[in-house]
Amino acid sequence: MNQNAALREMIESSKNIVFFTGAGISTESGIPDFRSPGGIWSKMAPIQFQDFLSSEEMQRESWRRKFETDKTMKIAKPNAGHYAIQRLIETGKASNVITQNIDNLHQVSGVPHDRVIELHGNATYASCLSCNTRYELEVIKQSFIVKGELPVCKFCGGLVKTATISFGQAMPIEPMQKAEEAALSCDLFFAIGSSLVVHPAAQIPLLAARNGAQLVIINREKTPLDEFAHIVINTEIGHLLSEVTSY
Ligand code: NAD
Repeated sequence: MNQNAALREMIESSKNIVFFTGAGISTESGIPDFRSPGGIWSKMAPIQFQDFLSSEEMQRESWRRKFETDKTMKIAKPNAGHYAIQRLIETGKASNVITQNIDNLHQVSGVPHDRVIELHGNATYASCLSCNTRYELEVIKQSFIVKGELPVCKFCGGLVKTATISFGQAMPIEPMQKAEEAALSCDLFFAIGSSLVVHPAAQIPLLAARNGAQLVIINREKTPLDEFAHIVINTEIGHLLSEVTSY
């Protein structure tokens, strides 16, 4: 049996699938990942959370980058990979998608919000670091670009930042708990388009595998978790997922 046929059979016989996605699922939508050649890190180093907190210049740099990268993110649409996952969640075959992505594309593809577990937040809005009040980016952009103003919370005076988790920032407790529960409840776990080197997120697939779920890794290149997987497929995501999930 070839790999695709084996994958189809695993999907058909599974009672509960959980997906885990990284930046690689969105490159086919035009959003660069971090680590591939030409990816975001080949152009600029990430801003650490502590630097954002302590330096006004880093806050300005962070907003400049945000409004620059937003040009790409705003026009990105879900691709075949996102829609394949959406279909399996809609039919009840899969329960959740745990994502490291911040691009909102799983939700745009039609996955209900409560089925998407965002480990690194969401870049389509901002929030106050002290009281969590939500702010829309368009309003921040106008004040920042036109008047050079940094956003400050109008309720508590706290710093406002995109609602994403930066390097050095604590992981959000509730999504991590939900991700662990999902990983422990499934019998088939897909890790898709992630280099699986960003921790603690990368421990989630391992948790599922150690709990007895079959682990499938789909990624262009090798990952540190390949040795724990039942199947590793090094290929482009969209085409493969469409093929193995269409009936
Ligand atoms: P990563 O950049 O470390 O790894 C992406 C992996 O996907 C790479 O191994 C690459 O070879 C593979 N890949 C890229 N395109 C692919 C394709 N079409 N088919 C198959 N494989 C493909 O990303 P990561 O593991 O998600 O971790 C980095 C962090 O980057 C995450 O925490 C995430 O928050 C952030 N990030 C998110 C986005 C987004 O939201 N779209 C984009 C860039 C970075």
